[in-house]
Amino acid sequence: MNSSHHIPTICRMCEQGCGMVVTVQNGKPVKVEGSKTHPYNKGWLCPKGRACLDFFYSPQRLSSPLVRKNGEFAAVGWEEALDFAAKKLHNLRESFGPQCLAVYHGEGTGHQEIKYFMKRFANVFGTPNFTGVGSLCNAARTLGEQLTYGGVTKPDIYNTRFMLVWGGNPLVSHEPVLPREIDRLKRRGGRIAVVDPRKTETAAKADFHLAVKPGRDEILALNLLHVIFREGLWDKQFAEKWIKNFSSFFETVMQDRFSPENGRPLTGVDHELVREVARLYGKTKPASVALGNGLDHHSVGVSAIRLVAIMKAVSGNLDIPGGDLFTPRPKLNDITAPRPSSSVPAIGSEHFPLFCGMRDEGQALSIPDAILDERPYPIKAMIIAGGNTSLEWPDSNRVKKALRKLEFLMVIDVVRSPDCEYADVVLPACTFLERDEHRANVYHNLHHITLRRQVVEPLYGLPDQMIWIKLAKAMGFGDYFPWKSCGEAIDHMLSDLGLSYEKLISQRGIHEYEKRVYKKYETRGFHTPSGKVEIISERLRDTGCDPFPIREEVLHPSGEDEDFPLFLITGGNLLPYLHWQYRYIPKLRRMAPKPMFEIHPATARHWGISDNETAEVLTAKGSIRLKAHVTDRIRPDTIHIPQGWEEANANELSSGEASDPLSGFPNLKSLRCRLRKRLDDEKSRQ
Ligand code: SF4
Repeated sequence: MNSSHHIPTICRMCEQGCGMVVTVQNGKPVKVEGSKTHPYNKGWLCPKGRACLDFFYSPQRLSSPLVRKNGEFAAVGWEEALDFAAKKLHNLRESFGPQCLAVYHGEGTGHQEIKYFMKRFANVFGTPNFTGVGSLCNAARTLGEQLTYGGVTKPDIYNTRFMLVWGGNPLVSHEPVLPREIDRLKRRGGRIAVVDPRKTETAAKADFHLAVKPGRDEILALNLLHVIFREGLWDKQFAEKWIKNFSSFFETVMQDRFSPENGRPLTGVDHELVREVARLYGKTKPASVALGNGLDHHSVGVSAIRLVAIMKAVSGNLDIPGGDLFTPRPKLNDITAPRPSSSVPAIGSEHFPLFCGMRDEGQALSIPDAILDERPYPIKAMIIAGGNTSLEWPDSNRVKKALRKLEFLMVIDVVRSPDCEYADVVLPACTFLERDEHRANVYHNLHHITLRRQVVEPLYGLPDQMIWIKLAKAMGFGDYFPWKSCGEAIDHMLSDLGLSYEKLISQRGIHEYEKRVYKKYETRGFHTPSGKVEIISERLRDTGCDPFPIREEVLHPSGEDEDFPLFLITGGNLLPYLHWQYRYIPKLRRMAPKPMFEIHPATARHWGISDNETAEVLTAKGSIRLKAHVTDRIRPDTIHIPQGWEEANANELSSGEASDPLSGFPNLKSLRCRLRKRLDDEKSRQ
């Protein structure tokens, strides 16, 4: 008998969490649509979401566990693979101590939810080295904002009248809501300004584009603040009551050296444009700021983030309708307990104590040093879930060398990712359509817990949560992982909210856990040591770091580099992909079939490179070859290489050394490079 069901769930082709409805016929998913009743995407799905059945049915999916035997992978049963892994991990723990294991969660399989299981496993194993993609994505912003006002804000795009998008391209990376809301903002007379060296899809729609030189964001932020202060556009009442040490900062920024005119040679942004945007931002109420990775990925990213955060505070837009909102996370039962028994600090704590302390995890990018140089102690084993370190971490060649040196590497993923090449064991995870998990939607200023509901039985693999539970059992840690299903674990996490898996299903997978309250600081203060917005950060001072947000060197950035005269931006995402993923799905691949770098027409002429011609991009670290896309949507002194291409891996050009001193984030967006025309390629075409 034919049976057909329509099951609401949450897309996990990326982290945005759009509602979707899946039509299931005879136990097979046959159609997906955007959920019209979902408060976030309201029926819309992006190309990745629409391609999720291609992901589900992809021939690239791992169909069984793999164990390396005599150098080759052999397909084995779950029991054999888990016993093999457990034995290896036990032995290494015995020989080197529990801290020799590092676990890393990437974006691949749903990190926001599954990381709790991974952290629990790490804790029970006894290693402090739980790490994740936050070591190079987003967490630097969290750190900069937390140091300044104790939380993270998101722009109230639905009600704002002016939005400043800084270092992000939400039309590509935050698809469902921002394109729609940017159009609505413009229709109601609002304005948008974008700060980005590239004329991105978002910048092309904006009223103002400040094409800043890569890595000069701090100076631009100070130039904007200079105008806001000089023209009396800051919120005096808010500053007096809620900002600590305002006057010393104010006096410094008022100095002529921070004027847009003086900033122009450094930022490359016309001073009149800076003045116009500063005035509009200062005078328009409410205004908001959306931050992107473009601010994080520099050798001093957190410093720039702190200045932009201070700008948000002095403008009086914090936590007001249409401004920059704090949306507290739901209070879930902590599934990560118990604490690790190891007294050794997490990898990265030595250099990035604030990052590791505030996140309660290691800085993953310090792992290659710990493997190769055994500093500060050796890492001998890794478990990578939904991540792709050999492609996504800076200095890929060193990362690969480190992966090769490991005594044991296990990879958990849906498909055979590049990291599998270095693995001893590979375990197949299933897709999001085949597992249950909760999701908190605070990303979008919504106080919602939603249910990503399993719509069909797994075609291959297991839900990630069940993999961790099974591995824990094989290790003899079963008492700490008593849940027999994902639903039971969800019940455990949601019980303090009076919510359960079944109750979420009965609510069609959406639960509002609290109502919006504005200006929460008026009753609770800010979550900083002083309870105020901290210009001079007490946490930074306590850690021995300079607590003042203006670095003395800020006006003296490193000058021209004769060997490497161009800036290089890497790490950007392409619309059909999520980092490395989905290039194997034909309909998505057709949207961006080959690696290309963006170059301005004048720069291309200077280097003798034509559109679609292969060139070599060289940095102090290495070189890669790829085709040129000649476009005027980029600064003439800058080129851009999107991330995630195995055949032209931008991280062969980046270095782990130039990392931000507070977050450990890599410099991926203000590298220096030069070009070389590939004459041999030309000849072979003739
Ligand atoms: S933005 Fe696209 S891929 Fe991401 S959750 Fe929404 S529909 Fe899915």
